[in-house]
Amino acid sequence: MLPPDSHVHSQWSWDALAGSMERTCLRAVELGLPSVAFTEHADFTPWTLRPGEVVPEVWQPLLAAGVLTPPPLDLHAYWNGLASCRERHPGLRILSGVELSEPHWHASRVERLLGSGGFERVLASVHSAPTADGSGFTEVSARYDDQLPAEVVRAYLAETVRLIEQFDAFEILAHIDYPVRYWPADRKPYDPYDFEDEYRHVLRTLAAADKVLEVNTRVPLHSQVLTWWRQEGGQAISFASDAHDPATLGRGFSDAAQMAEASGFRPSHDPHAFWSRG
Ligand SMILES: [Zn+2]
Ligand SMILES: [Zn+2]
Repeated sequence: MLPPDSHVHSQWSWDALAGSMERTCLRAVELGLPSVAFTEHADFTPWTLRPGEVVPEVWQPLLAAGVLTPPPLDLHAYWNGLASCRERHPGLRILSGVELSEPHWHASRVERLLGSGGFERVLASVHSAPTADGSGFTEVSARYDDQLPAEVVRAYLAETVRLIEQFDAFEILAHIDYPVRYWPADRKPYDPYDFEDEYRHVLRTLAAADKVLEVNTRVPLHSQVLTWWRQEGGQAISFASDAHDPATLGRGFSDAAQMAEASGFRPSHDPHAFWSRG
């Protein structure tokens, strides 16, 4: 039995151009996933684009003077979509959710969104970093243009600590190793041991806040990070394909589940629950 997919995007996430809630549910049934959580993006940080960066045509209305402002989540459409999928797939547990980007920078907007009610899975993430000149913000990956790779990762992990310390209204920390997705291929390869102190600091802070660590499979999380999570007192993990289209739902879950077991985490008797330390 595969673990639940606790982090999935559908067409209600502005950047999921091939997203489909309905086809994702069909795929979940096909794969035999016990449950799926639609954690759509709530992105509040405007991004300064790289010079000359071209974005998809449908994002043109979000652009002004080289800055992309993500649109608000269409809650009405989202809840309607969720209700109709639940009706069509009674055997699949379909959870509501949201992925909050830098919620500690946007306290009042986040409070309003969460106050609108009822999200079953609340993820917190960092996707943004200050621009080199400090005049704005950019997607983390853009910082590899002007920063050493190790500095990008260290700054990301430091921001993640600030998120956990300054914001509490979430359950799961998403993709702790997000910048690794964009690590430049022409540099010394990424090695998690180079960042052991920084990872441990995030994990210790997360464990003290009694949160869940996500095992994201978009770029498989290094097993050493799970070992450190246990050592720093971490209790629970979730699994996440972070799929932005139906085809990538549950990707890499067998391998991730094996890795998690080898690192000392076990499924619960409830197939919908998080895994916990054995
Ligand atoms: Zn994310
Ligand atoms: Zn995501």
